[in-house]
Amino acid sequence: MLTPNLHYLELQESYLFFNIAKKTAAYLEAHPGERLYRLGIGDVSQPLCPAVIAALHAAVEDQAAQATFHGYMPECGAVFLREAIAAHYAQRGVTLDPEEVFVSSGASDELGDLLDLFGHGKTVLIPEPAYPAYVDANVMAGNAIVHLNTGKQTGFLPLPPWEKQADVIYLCSPNNPTGAVLSRAQLQQWVHYANETGAVILFDAAYEAFIEDPALPHSIFEIEGARTCAIEICSLSKTAGFTGTRCGYTVIPRELKRGGAQLNAMWVRNRTTKTNGISYILQRGAAAVFTPVGQRQIHATLQIYKDNAKTLMRALDAVGLWYTGGKNAPYLWVECPAGLDSWAFFDRLLNEVRVVGTPGAGFGSCGEGYLRFTTFGDPAETAEAARRIVRLLK
Ligand code: PLP
Repeated sequence: MLTPNLHYLELQESYLFFNIAKKTAAYLEAHPGERLYRLGIGDVSQPLCPAVIAALHAAVEDQAAQATFHGYMPECGAVFLREAIAAHYAQRGVTLDPEEVFVSSGASDELGDLLDLFGHGKTVLIPEPAYPAYVDANVMAGNAIVHLNTGKQTGFLPLPPWEKQADVIYLCSPNNPTGAVLSRAQLQQWVHYANETGAVILFDAAYEAFIEDPALPHSIFEIEGARTCAIEICSLSKTAGFTGTRCGYTVIPRELKRGGAQLNAMWVRNRTTKTNGISYILQRGAAAVFTPVGQRQIHATLQIYKDNAKTLMRALDAVGLWYTGGKNAPYLWVECPAGLDSWAFFDRLLNEVRVVGTPGAGFGSCGEGYLRFTTFGDPAETAEAARRIVRLLK
């Protein structure tokens, strides 16, 4: 009889968003007609920019005419989009061959799918608090997980644990959930560690577009030595509002080799076997993000979220709560008031001022005692949430 992948039975139930939904539903049932101020969910609130919408419409028209119709797209991405992304990196001083760029349907898919490159039973280092998909994808793959806790002392920034070894390392900067951003020097230490130990870094850059400080790296490939130890996973979800439209990209340098095999060539083989590419229409929409007008427009939208972050930071400063993030990142990671754990603070905010956050305990054990706020909400709602936080805690 077939034995399925029993590693699925080792997955912890994800109580986090389920519990949040349950508690908010219970509140609304007990208080019909009341409104909640949601700073919990990491989804965007603003629409796609006009340049993307125009490109999507034009691409739909292309599909209507024999002369411009596209069937299957190249599995690793359309040349026009791979070139546009490589040109975008070049503006930051990072030289990529377009064939080192793989167009994807988003970062989530890639963060799990890329594990195909390494085979099962590997050891994976995950700095925590972490985006929950890292742990779950590796449990499914039967990998051993080394949890690397971070805390307030280091501003929730992980540094390489030289006493530990891993085959694969997940790094996320700017980080979800903490909003902490690795400096160039810190990222250099990780690159050195990976090259010395033979590990491969999966660098999740889903939030790089929120970086404003010119001293901070957007890409791990701005760091010397990264081309021999890193894969970068990017997404247009938060950069350009593609959460429901779906498109991302992954960079695998040609120099990245392990056991004599080139990981770029392996990923070409993987994609040409397991996918038939991303739709022509979406890739046209994605390419518009990288045009000058597209960049201006997405940055105007990002500014809305950055202003939300400032509104929330002013509120947290006013009530004296310690936090990371908010600057160069769309998340604020807030220390709970004395005596409250993550869920107790969540309950207090919900029941007393109708503000919804995300309990930090859901992102790993070292997240206990913290709450995550997102800045992706509607500005008026975020401003009202900020006022309510001040009213409750001042
Ligand atoms: N990586 C991180 C750290 C995220 O927070 C998210 C989404 O919230 C993703 C990846 C997934 O992005 P995508 O929408 O491209 O799948």
